[in-house]
Amino acid sequence: MERTFVMIKPDGVQRGLAGEIISRFERKGLKIVAMKMLWIGRELAEQHYAEHKEKPFFNALIDYITSGPVVAMVVEGRSAVSVVRTMIGKTNPAEAAPGTVRGDLAMDTGRNVVHASDSLQSAEREISLFFKPDEIFDYAKVDEDWVYEK
Ligand code: UDP
Repeated sequence: MERTFVMIKPDGVQRGLAGEIISRFERKGLKIVAMKMLWIGRELAEQHYAEHKEKPFFNALIDYITSGPVVAMVVEGRSAVSVVRTMIGKTNPAEAAPGTVRGDLAMDTGRNVVHASDSLQSAEREISLFFKPDEIFDYAKVDEDWVYEK
């Protein structure tokens, strides 16, 4: 099982899409093992997006991600990192396939409603930035035998 970090960005919260997005992960069979609403400060935002520090869009990205509350989650499942990346779609919503979160619910790269870790290594880093170990729950879900063959 893998764990990945997912965040509904301020535009997703403002547009009332949090339930829709969370519901997609639940319906897929993924397990939400941590979730909270928070308003990210610039320091955490800059740590989270440290890899983009030299990019021309960095300041706008930090303004965007700190512009309102977000919903942060840890999502667990088999191959969860790649499954969730596939579900959210390409970074640019104009190129994201229909059926993906960004393909169905967004229009602009700078307002692409959701974040998800792009590798197991970034998942571990991002989860530890946003969650303390005691905020992440180990629990069995009743449908596990119906979601996975074995
Ligand atoms: N972004 C942007 N302009 C760009 C590229 C990225 O505003 O030209 C923003 C966008 O919100 C994106 C985030 O920066 O989701 C992180 O970029 P990354 O390439 O890591 O894409 P992601 O992993 O979110 O698909």
